[in-house]
Order: sequence, then structure tokens, then C-alpha cells
Amino acid sequence: MSSGQKLTRFNSFSETVENIMKKLLPTSSSGSLPKPTWLAEPETLWSPWKLQNEELVSGKQDALRLSLQEQQHAGIDIVSDGEQTRQHFVTTFIEHLEGVDFEKRETVKIRDRYDASVPTVVGPVSRKKPVFVEDAKFLRQQTDQPIKWALPGPMTMIDTLYDAHYKSREKLAWEFAKILNQEAKELEAAGVDIIQFDEPAFNVFFDEVNDWGIACLERAIEGLKCETAVHICYGYGIKANTDWKKTLGTEWRQYEQVFPKLQQSNIDIISLECHNSHVPIELLELIRGKKVMVGAIDVATNDIETPEEVAATLRKALEFVDAEHLYPCTNCGMAPLPRDIATAKLKALHAGAEIVRAELTNE
Ligand SMILES: [Zn+2]
Repeated sequence: MSSGQKLTRFNSFSETVENIMKKLLPTSSSGSLPKPTWLAEPETLWSPWKLQNEELVSGKQDALRLSLQEQQHAGIDIVSDGEQTRQHFVTTFIEHLEGVDFEKRETVKIRDRYDASVPTVVGPVSRKKPVFVEDAKFLRQQTDQPIKWALPGPMTMIDTLYDAHYKSREKLAWEFAKILNQEAKELEAAGVDIIQFDEPAFNVFFDEVNDWGIACLERAIEGLKCETAVHICYGYGIKANTDWKKTLGTEWRQYEQVFPKLQQSNIDIISLECHNSHVPIELLELIRGKKVMVGAIDVATNDIETPEEVAATLRKALEFVDAEHLYPCTNCGMAPLPRDIATAKLKALHAGAEIVRAELTNE
């Protein structure tokens, strides 16, 4: 390729990204999508890989390509890797770091909800080499559409570890924030348009979120020029989460505790669970001015939303979010769902957004 050709390609690249980002109600998924059955056991979290070594490397790339194609066929505007190269949204990132011993395990309570055997922080944590950057470059080669890349947030990372070194949640979160910032800067350089931090822990540890959780998140995005997002949900549709949801009563007001400070933060986009949740929609007023990824797809049921149901959720959100700030999305990742169900849900998301987009432009 001559440099002239490269330039043309680069220009058309950024034009596509810019056009889609300007489009009203651009759709995306919040992160993980089901993996093909030849790569990992379906409908399970932390599912072990079915391939090894070189076969695993190329298998992950093929899965990433498939996942991208499924998103494109469903009409999704902002695409992702569907987290095809990772076993788990938090653990896989931590596995690549120094200072954490995965053999030395302790039982802790995750998000104050369920016991799990977790690895131990045994020394200073650091990132010796990039974690997802090569995957992001590979995805960038496959598409001209805007790319969103998910990373775990600092507070959710510390919540899945036993800390025998720093002995301070805040100190460990701060160290992780610095590491995430290194990774995020390299993802940005690889052509990622939106970097998202997954922080389900923000729905649980309100005092810590306000004391230092949001500050850590701002440390993680320091110096980034691309868009940044924080995803705060009530978790995957796994039993521990659905049982916890049952204890929350008819009104889920967790977001109320952290929205005021998030509204003041440097984060561009806030990604939330809405459809079928008991979150009072008027809480969105507390983050007015921010871009909002509105969860219009329930990931805790195999029932496929109708486009009209998606549209109804988006219309409710529009009372509190300006149209140009609204990004229709899924409530959470869909990794534990059957693959055909997840694809059908993405199609419903696209079709529902089309209905409301047409209403907005005909006004
Ligand atoms: Zn989620």
C-alpha cells in the first residue's frame, strides 16, 4: 500500500467513525457476548477454553471476527470484541499483572453478596506488558465502525482479590488505576474510540465510591482524548445476582448515591441498567448533561424484547436524557446467554432504536 492510499483509507476510516458517533441513538452492547461452542463451554462464566496454544490464539481471533459480524448483521453501530479473547471481565486482566498469586487463594465475599475463592495480592502490582492491545489492533483492522473496549474498573478489581500486601482497598485501587491508565492509553493509540470501565461495585460500596472510587476512575482516564465510559449495572443474570436483586425491594435507588458525584466527574458516558429493573427512571435527572448508555435489553431472561418494548424504555429515558446524549445499550454483558438469543436481543435493540430515531427526526 502506498502512503497515498494509506491516507485515503485513514480519512474514510475517521469519517465513518465520526458519522456514526454523530448519528442519533447509536446502539452498542455493554460488553461480553456468547462465545462459539468450539471455543468455550456455552452459557457458563469462567468457562475453560477448548483449544490450546497456537490453536487457541487463532480460535480467539476467529471468534472475535464472528462476534463482530454478528453485531454488524444485527445493525449495532458501536461495535466491540464481544470479549471473545477473555475468560472473565475482571480475572483475565488481573492474570496479566505482576504481584498477584493465582495459586495462593483466600475466600472473600464479592460485592458483599457471595463467597468466592480469590487470588492473593502478594507484592507491588504492575503491568509488564499490554493486555488487550493486540486484540484491539486486530479488531480495528476488521471494521471502520466506532469501537468500544471494556476494561474492569479499579474498585471492581480490588473486590475480586485478597490483599496481603497493601492492606488498603484505596491504595490497591489507586495502583490499579495507574495500570489501567497505561493500558487505556495504548488502546486509544490502537484506534479504540470509547474506553469503558466496568464498575458493578459502584452499586454496593457507596461511601468508598464517593471517597475515592470516582477519583480512581478519573486517574484511570487521565490524559485520554477518546471517549470514556463507566458501566454500572446490577450484574450478569447469574443466580447470586438475581437473588440479590430480590432483596432490593420494589425501588432500586443505588444509583442515587453515586450519580451526583459522577455527574461532576470527567467521565463522558455513564452506562446503566434500565429495562425490567426497578431503577426509578427519574434518577437519570441526577446525571443530566452526561451521555448515557441506557440498558434497554434485560440480560437475565431468555425472553427476547420486542422492538416496541425497547422503544418504550428509550422514550422514558428521553424525558431525562437529551436525544443527542442517549446511547441505546444492553443492561449488562450477554456472555452467559445462548448465542442465538443474544443475537436476537441485539436485533431488537437496533429495531427499537430505529423506531425512536424515526420519531425524533420526524418531529
Ligand atoms: Zn454489567
